[in-house]
Amino acid sequence: MLQQSIKQEIHDDIQGIWTTVLGIKETCWKCKKPTTLAAGLRFDCHVGITQADDSNGFLIFDDDTSDIIASVLNPVVRQQCGVGVIRMRYSRTADANYLANGCVHCDAIQGNFPLRELIDAAHANHGSEAKAHRAMTTLVRLRLPQWVMHELERRVGDAHG
Ligand SMILES: [Zn+2]
Repeated sequence: MLQQSIKQEIHDDIQGIWTTVLGIKETCWKCKKPTTLAAGLRFDCHVGITQADDSNGFLIFDDDTSDIIASVLNPVVRQQCGVGVIRMRYSRTADANYLANGCVHCDAIQGNFPLRELIDAAHANHGSEAKAHRAMTTLVRLRLPQWVMHELERRVGDAHG
């Protein structure tokens, strides 16, 4: 439901917050080929949700953001950027199903735990989060509607509370 309504509104909300969906390159653990993972959302301006936890305008791909990211990465964008399908996948690490990245070649799960390690390493290697984000791949830029921002705020707020 959420995904469908985002798709309908995504292109006409001129009040929305400019947002970049960032991707990060990874070598698939299974087939050893390069693939790109959806890494997170970066907001052009500081918004409430990212100020609260000092996340530098960036929300990582996780249970709070994955359905929104999946809904804006259509097949054309994924193909252009070499991003695998985001869908419900079983993670042995988490012993649970969740919306996860997959390899563009072999469709193996690229889980959220190794993704977070990859991003932490990028932050460390580049010396700052801002530099690390500039080194990532821009998958798509769009205006996220206000109601999606409010939904994100509610989720992130709940997670912290
Ligand atoms: Zn693979």
